[in-house]
Amino acid sequence: MTPSPCIVAGNWKMNKTVAEAKSWLARFLESYQPSPRVEVQVYPSFTALHTMALLASDRSIRVGGQNIHDEERGAYTGEISAVQLREAGAEVVLIGHSERRLHAGETDAMLARKLTAAIHAGLQPVLCVGENREDRQAQRHEDVVGLQIERGLAGWEPSAGIPLIIAYEPVWAIGTGMTATPQDAGAMHAHIRRRLEKLPVHIPEVRILYGGSVTPDNVAELFATPGIDGVLVGGASLDALGFLEIVRAAQRLR
Ligand code: PEP
Repeated sequence: MTPSPCIVAGNWKMNKTVAEAKSWLARFLESYQPSPRVEVQVYPSFTALHTMALLASDRSIRVGGQNIHDEERGAYTGEISAVQLREAGAEVVLIGHSERRLHAGETDAMLARKLTAAIHAGLQPVLCVGENREDRQAQRHEDVVGLQIERGLAGWEPSAGIPLIIAYEPVWAIGTGMTATPQDAGAMHAHIRRRLEKLPVHIPEVRILYGGSVTPDNVAELFATPGIDGVLVGGASLDALGFLEIVRAAQRLR
């Protein structure tokens, strides 16, 4: 069986106009050589998603949304459904990024519903989990992340047929320049796998990404760490050439 490719994903957050997204893509594609060992994903804002999907998908780049609502349609002003996102060209979607948990009050129960909505629409979900600084200092990070996994996946349907991606992103590492050590990241990835095995449903083929201040300078040691199946990159993905460096490191090391 061919092993699943590792993933390098860029989360642009609330950055880039459509014009800026197009020029990022043009710069990236000037030198990008796809490889079957590395899957590249980009998460633009909703406004640029359709354009990016049209321009990028035939160049081996999967485009994703940063959020969805759990309902398919209705009176939810300002929201976007999984079906709408899929139709706009998204193939993947972030569920429960810590900035959404923090700023939009998303709970694990809401995320479980979003996960189901994503799967029903044919979108591959990326469930984001991670402890905050206090949790880590108090040594309860494994419990916190374990519960996020258990509750977020409460509605997982074994028949989904869509492989799950989990992104472990310690909140204290996001946008701070403080990356988790490869040992800490590797230990948490192993913990997540153990936790997945204890779930009442069997979820095959889960890939687990690390996210939190990943840059071209620190990506090599992360890729050298067993159990890390890829990276979710925020700030450093905004620069096309910096992101390309990370992709190339993955291609070299995997
Ligand atoms: C993120 O937002 O998912 C992220 C990992 O951000 P950064 O790389 O900037 O820490």
